[in-house]
Amino acid sequence: MPTLCIDFGGTEIKLGILDGPRILASTTVANTGTMADLDRVRDAVDELGRATDDSSIGTVGIAVPGVVDRVNGTLVAAHDKYDYAIGRDLREWATHSFGAPAVVENDARAALVGETTYGVAAGTRDAVMVTLGTGIGTAALIDGHLLRGAHDHAGILGGHMTVDLDGPACNCGNAGCAEAVASTWALRRDVASDPALAASPLGERATRGRIGLRDLVETRDAPAPAALFDRYLRAWGAAIVTLCHAYDPDVVIVSGGAMRSADAILPPLSEYVDAHLWSSSHRPAFVTPSAPQYSVILGLSALAGRPDARDGLHRKDDQ
Ligand SMILES: [Zn+2]
Repeated sequence: MPTLCIDFGGTEIKLGILDGPRILASTTVANTGTMADLDRVRDAVDELGRATDDSSIGTVGIAVPGVVDRVNGTLVAAHDKYDYAIGRDLREWATHSFGAPAVVENDARAALVGETTYGVAAGTRDAVMVTLGTGIGTAALIDGHLLRGAHDHAGILGGHMTVDLDGPACNCGNAGCAEAVASTWALRRDVASDPALAASPLGERATRGRIGLRDLVETRDAPAPAALFDRYLRAWGAAIVTLCHAYDPDVVIVSGGAMRSADAILPPLSEYVDAHLWSSSHRPAFVTPSAPQYSVILGLSALAGRPDARDGLHRKDDQ
């Protein structure tokens, strides 16, 4: 039976009804950061069900941008995102709302499963995912096993590895994290606090609306944005070098909105990583998803069909 996949993203909530890799229907709901979003998700799913021939749902997959407790089906921590969902039993909500058992997973892990099962790195057994966006999301697959660790934190905090000891404070409590140095939220801070950047084409864009990493890439011909872009590339490179040292991947999958300008990012990024890796380390291939908007829901569809993921459905009751 099809899987209902719900991807709680930064600006919108993506919904899909999938049969394996086939997307039978999909839609999005605006993320307002309030409990009312859950009701609107339920309404949107009702409409999606009517749009498909087979509206029966066998399993629900839920992805959230933070640390998850898979046994209890809750979001443990997300730092400024989805405060209303912290500690809430999302599995129980899904079961009650849609009448099907649910799995809850971190969004970067789900995206990694999507891309290594059905996407750009299909069949790869050793891969690292890095999503550059509002923050930096990461995940690791080692010998075909999704890395989770004893407390579900393993692999997903790659954006919170220190790349600059004297760097800015991060919202996680650490200092100089990769995402505190080079992410969308870091970019908005940098442009607001640096007169040269504020006076640049990037600063002009910031006065017209909210800027993202793509704006930095597109204005990199000007001196101040060029210097900042170079710093961001080195921060991402340093984080990926450490991820490669830790997890020894064959492939590094780089995703996020800025990767629509992948030609400007992947070559210098892989060059930095090649130059800084341990001498005998494997030099991984760098790829970017062809349809990044679907990485997470494809991964949820794959995860929902796996016995080890579905274990989480039952363990709480067994205890
Ligand atoms: Zn941090």
